[in-house]
Amino acid sequence: MYCQVIVDIVHENVAHTFTYRVPDAFSLSPGQRVLVPFGPRNREGVVLSLTEETDYDPARIREVIRPMEPYPAILPPLMALAREMAEQAHCPLAETLRLMIPAEMRGGRVRALTEEWAALAEGVSAEQAEAALAAERRSPKRREILRLLLEKSPRPMEEIRQTVAAPREAVKALVGAGLVRIFTQELLRRPGTALQGAGAAWHTLTPEQQEVLEEILPALRKGSGRFLLHGVTGSGKTEVFLTAVRRTLEMGRSAIILVPEIALTPQMVRWFQDRFGPVAAVLHSRLSPGERYDEWRRIRRGEARVVIGARSAVFAPTEELGLLVVDEEHESTYFSDHHPRYDAREVAMSRCGREGATLILASATPSILSFARARRGDYMLLEMPRRVQDRPMPTVRVVDMRAELEAGNRSVLSRELASELGACLRRGDQAMLLINRRGYHSFVSCRACGSVIKCPNCDVSLTGHVSDRVSTKQEKLRCHYCGYETALPDQCPACGSRYIKFFGAGTQKVEEEVQRLFPGTPTARMDLDTTAGKDGHAKILEAFRSGQARVLIGTQMIAKGLDFPQVTLVGVVAADMTLNLPDYRARERTFQLLTQVAGRAGRGKRPGLVVIQTYRPEDSVLRLAAKQDYRAFFEEEFLRRRQSLYPPFTIMTRLLVLSPAGDRADEAVREMEAQIRAALLEHPEWKKKVLLLSTEAPGVRMLRGMERRQILMKLLIGPEAESFCAFLAEKAEHPPEGCEVFYEYNPTSMM
Ligand code: ADP
Ligand code: ZN
Ligand code: ZN
Repeated sequence: MYCQVIVDIVHENVAHTFTYRVPDAFSLSPGQRVLVPFGPRNREGVVLSLTEETDYDPARIREVIRPMEPYPAILPPLMALAREMAEQAHCPLAETLRLMIPAEMRGGRVRALTEEWAALAEGVSAEQAEAALAAERRSPKRREILRLLLEKSPRPMEEIRQTVAAPREAVKALVGAGLVRIFTQELLRRPGTALQGAGAAWHTLTPEQQEVLEEILPALRKGSGRFLLHGVTGSGKTEVFLTAVRRTLEMGRSAIILVPEIALTPQMVRWFQDRFGPVAAVLHSRLSPGERYDEWRRIRRGEARVVIGARSAVFAPTEELGLLVVDEEHESTYFSDHHPRYDAREVAMSRCGREGATLILASATPSILSFARARRGDYMLLEMPRRVQDRPMPTVRVVDMRAELEAGNRSVLSRELASELGACLRRGDQAMLLINRRGYHSFVSCRACGSVIKCPNCDVSLTGHVSDRVSTKQEKLRCHYCGYETALPDQCPACGSRYIKFFGAGTQKVEEEVQRLFPGTPTARMDLDTTAGKDGHAKILEAFRSGQARVLIGTQMIAKGLDFPQVTLVGVVAADMTLNLPDYRARERTFQLLTQVAGRAGRGKRPGLVVIQTYRPEDSVLRLAAKQDYRAFFEEEFLRRRQSLYPPFTIMTRLLVLSPAGDRADEAVREMEAQIRAALLEHPEWKKKVLLLSTEAPGVRMLRGMERRQILMKLLIGPEAESFCAFLAEKAEHPPEGCEVFYEYNPTSMM
């Protein structure tokens, strides 16, 4: 037998398969990982196929050393998926195969954890053991061990060790006497939040939830269907998923639930664990490597059949996939901009098609792209326009911050928000304040010459932070991209002026303001600074849930799927921050953010109020977000995209050029631009599709010490555009010297 192996090295010259002989002792399957000799070293690889014969000279073919695991790590449909992704992303198969297994499995960095157990030997009866126990005079240790095993066998050595110090020798002697045997057992590391028993109460579905399920269930039975579930915040979408998952399990199939970021959805995870117990597995980046590996194996072995996880869980090794849910489908975290780049929603669609599973994309604010697809009939649209139990939608008020300034209020909180916050606290309720910038203030600029203090490594402004220790109340500037830190200078580095000041507001500043207005109010702050630790999120959320903290102040993080029934006031401190981003999706992002954050108010029995502060109250995004009218927003934005020719009406694509040297990057851009223009002359069918070809530098010209340049293109949609894109991808694979080039197709961030 011979096998064709993809060796786990990402290099152009290794991007094909190598043939090895399979020793008779092993039976291998496609998808199985193997250790093979490669050049002077041994390497890991994945078996693609097996053949009886080979065209190569048998004398020169080397042998597989051993399989890495006794089972195929990559199931056939996932092998097919890896191939498809490699083709589409124009990258080596070895690279997409890496997505299919936990990183820590490669290179044998984690091993299965084993535990040693002792038991009475096979065929030794209780009577024999009793007799041996009585005869065992000389060694009290051996006696004690026998006694323990008579009580309970088998039991872990660790347990024996608790009663008998250093029992090894004694156990060995008992093994030698044929009375005891030792064996090892695989131990699974379980993530800290241990699964509590299954069987928590199920809600009686509301008629709306019932209706939606009645559309989904027939599709589940047929193993088909693509749905877009548009349900307002608090409409009970999770309950729909939970029921659909239960039905999937009853059909003997498995389910994957993708959430944008697992640390921010602890409730969702808890709900699934409460209902499904150990049948649910959790995959996310904050697990230890060992934990992640173990969860992966529980899924691979079929012990866990419900997987909840962030983006990469779309590759979970479930057999018999019946249902795949992408919750909060509009979130940009579903797009991975590491190598190889992928969009988990597209991967989900491909998996569902191949494996005969039902796909549900869900959101209160679907992405323009997904809603447009639903309108075109690619997805079946399901709507839940009301909150469960007739809970009212929150009231939203927009406050004009220009008027505040005119009235002499220089605080970050408007008079209205401050007075509502006071009322909320007096009622004994909780409030959330969102500020989409972390840090004390935002950037520092010179009032004399206008220059902004930037990071020396990245072309972004530095953010001010105040040390949390009161004794050393020192102001620091920090870069949010690379972590660079420096003290606040007392004069402008450009002109020497001493009028150097902070602009804008951050989470710390808002917290201080709340303290100033309502001294002694317990507050909690949630941003990248306070959530750095392993359980950072969980601790802050717990403090808020338990009522220890009355006001939660945070960045975007707090806008996501959290459900706190005591929150009756939500304040958005500066809605303009996202609206002013230099990106064609800024309006979409702002609408999503405002709707999501408004959705946090009034989820309990009492109604909620949302106060949005802005300098542009007349902007339609703010008006429509205030009305929470997704449909109207969609229509307006769809039209705007059509008129200004943005996706989904066109394709935005770019070659992103990175180099440590700016002049090298500029040169590379010129070189590639010339090649592209030449290709367009040769291919008039491509040229017809190109609406824009720009070499304007991106918003961020330097990041983590790398100079960044781009060739940005806007293309009309069509097969010719696709073949032009393939040409661009090919260009990226062979970058000019001294540069890295990334090909991007509708990138989520244009910075
Ligand atoms: P969404 O994800 O649509 O914003 P959730 O799934 O978080 O909404 O549900 C909102 C709240 O309503 C949750 O507290 C949930 O437990 C509750 N809920 C959902 N369905 C029902 C139901 N059928 N009966 C009672 N309460 C429900
Ligand atoms: Zn200056
Ligand atoms: Zn930096």
